[in-house]
Amino acid sequence: MSDEIEQIRGLLSTLEDRITTSPEDAALRDFAALELPEIIADVTDYLMPQLTPYEASVYFYMFRHSIIGSGTQYVRVSVSGLRHIVSSARADAASGISVQLVAASLKQLVDLGVICKQSEPNRTGTLYKVLIPEEIELCRLAMKSEAIKPDPILNPQSEVDYYNVRENRTLIFERDGYQCEYCRKQLTRFTATLDHITPVSQGGGNEYDNVITACRECNSRKTGKALGDFLADTNPA
Ligand SMILES: [Zn+2]
Repeated sequence: MSDEIEQIRGLLSTLEDRITTSPEDAALRDFAALELPEIIADVTDYLMPQLTPYEASVYFYMFRHSIIGSGTQYVRVSVSGLRHIVSSARADAASGISVQLVAASLKQLVDLGVICKQSEPNRTGTLYKVLIPEEIELCRLAMKSEAIKPDPILNPQSEVDYYNVRENRTLIFERDGYQCEYCRKQLTRFTATLDHITPVSQGGGNEYDNVITACRECNSRKTGKALGDFLADTNPA
C-alpha cells in the first residue's frame, strides 16, 4: 500500500513538473537568430547600472541558463543553488554570500520587474521568466532618455543616424509599429530589420525618412533596388 502511495506521489510530481514547465514550450522564442550581442549590450548599458552587484550576479546566472542556455526566457532556480553560484570562489569560504542575501536579491529583481515568478517553489526550485531590457520598464526609461529625439518636420535633413545607432533603430521600429512596411507582416524586436528606401548604393543615407521597418524576406529581396523597382517586381501589373 505505501508503495502505491509512493508511486502516486511520483506521478503527481511528474505531472506537476510538466505543468509548471509548460510555459517554456509555449513561449519558445528563436533566440538563436536574434541579435544576442545587442541584448547583452543593452543589459550592460541599461540594466547593470540599476542593480547591486549581487542582483547583477543573480540576473546574469539566470540569463545564462535561460536565454543563452535553452533559448527560452524561463529558468528554474533555488536560493540554495544560487548561493553557491553567486558566492565568489575568492571570498573567504566561511563568509560566502548568505541565503538571506540571495533571497533578498531575487525578491528585489522581482520587485524591479526584471524577472517574473512563474510558479510556487517545488523540490527543484521556483520557475522564473527572465526579462530582457526592452521588456523592463526601468531600462525602457533609460533607453528613451538616451535616444535622440527625431524632429523630421523641423529638421528634415537631419544628420542623425537612424540605421546604426541602436536607440534610434528602436525609434524607427516603434514609429512603424514593428510592421514590415512592404508586406505588412507583424514583426517583433527580434525579427524586425531596417531597410533603406533609397539604397545606400544609390546615394541613400541613414536619415529618419530613408529608413523603414522590413521583415528579413522583404529586406533581402529589396537589397540594392530602389523602391519603385522593388514594388514593380513584387506586384507585376
Ligand atoms: Zn515583408
